[in-house]
Amino acid sequence: MSEQVKFFQNVATYVDQAAGFTNFPKGLIEQIKVCNAVYQINFPVKIKDKIQVIEAYRVQHSHHRLPTKGGIRYSDMVNQDEVMALAALMTYKCAVVNVPFGGAKGGIKINPKEYTEDELERITRRYTFELIKKGFIGPALDVPAPDYGTGEREMSWIADTFMQFNQQELNAQACVTGKPIGQGGVHGRTEATGRGIFYGLKQACSYADDMKKIGLETGIEGKTVIIQGFGNVGYHAARVLQENGAIIVGVAEYEGGLYNAKGIDVDDLKKFQIENKTIRNYPKAKFIKQSNLLMEEVCDILIPAALENQITKDNAAKIKAKIIGEGANGPITPNGEAILSKKGVMVVPDMYLNAGGVTVSYFEWLKNLSHVSFGRLDHRHQDDSFNKIIDLIEGNTGRRISNREKDALRGADELDIVRSGLEDTMINSYENIRTILKRHKKMNSLRTAAYVDALDKIGVTYLKLGVFP
Ligand code: GLU
Repeated sequence: MSEQVKFFQNVATYVDQAAGFTNFPKGLIEQIKVCNAVYQINFPVKIKDKIQVIEAYRVQHSHHRLPTKGGIRYSDMVNQDEVMALAALMTYKCAVVNVPFGGAKGGIKINPKEYTEDELERITRRYTFELIKKGFIGPALDVPAPDYGTGEREMSWIADTFMQFNQQELNAQACVTGKPIGQGGVHGRTEATGRGIFYGLKQACSYADDMKKIGLETGIEGKTVIIQGFGNVGYHAARVLQENGAIIVGVAEYEGGLYNAKGIDVDDLKKFQIENKTIRNYPKAKFIKQSNLLMEEVCDILIPAALENQITKDNAAKIKAKIIGEGANGPITPNGEAILSKKGVMVVPDMYLNAGGVTVSYFEWLKNLSHVSFGRLDHRHQDDSFNKIIDLIEGNTGRRISNREKDALRGADELDIVRSGLEDTMINSYENIRTILKRHKKMNSLRTAAYVDALDKIGVTYLKLGVFP
């Protein structure tokens, strides 16, 4: 088996490496590693007067906490091994950021670009119906979300289909996250994975001793960044990093990459990509036809934010970045990681770094269960008290508080609350895994530390549940 076709095994290898730092019995680790339920579906959909059989999956990796949670991917590369690996990563990811869910993942083996909107809607609704039939969706059971090739639109079809079949279910809206705002979505979910990547990297770059080891200064400002993948995750990560002073020198997509040592204006490029449906011929950067070569250019931070298995034993030695931030799930294979580790590259692992998406999904699920938006009850009250305090200060000091100062202090709305919850989660989780890494002299990666953190939490939950007859 090549490195590329054993993604699930790669995740298991990482778990085994971490298990040696825990005291759990071997059987418990085995139970944690396996997928609890794998559902493969083949269903017919009429596409342009022909019947097409669609292959799809939903995998629930761990039931130690319910509901299970994880995105649904539309790609012609979807296969059972991939969905199982991604479901497993969701379990560990949720544990690391203290989101109280088990892991799951779904996938439909189609290239969404080859279908009309109407066809995609019929495929999505039929898939949802298949999930309903077997108890693989529901606010207390299994809650999908967007992933590669899906977004708000697909989530709204899923929510609507589920609600049609569950009219008495008061919490039906919470059957899926990543919905449009008007359908029970939460502000800040779309950008959440990308923004979380920024918060995570900011935290990783904040320790002088860690940065000194790799020859960098602390802080994000002035750091050069190459991003692979300019979809929802890559774009928002690049945008927020740029807003905070990073220089985006490279952007790679499947059709090729762009490089400009002086920096690429992220929003300008996004506009170009939307208008032209490609980044090819973007006039303000050099075009590199072989997109994967862009990852080998000089930069401080490399962010693979597309698909798995991008950095392997074949190209790891050529990577020049000092920090790799895993925006995607599983972009580095264990063999690739071993080479990077010898070179002293700091890897900020996927199960921590891209967990912003599921963290804000958790907020959305909570919002749906509570049937009220964050800040709705106390926003006006906070604003009134705030205005009274400002009046008092201005009256007593004779100084006018500027509108900018007022905006910075004003009562929080939903977006503020979501962003601060996300930032807090990313800071605390980083502290946890860094502390674990420092505690073990023989441990050499943040990834192993993150797995140890996850195994500890999952293992303890299993033992508490007493699920072993
Ligand atoms: N698909 C995203 C991930 O891989 C989000 C999952 C979710 O929000 O449930 O983390």
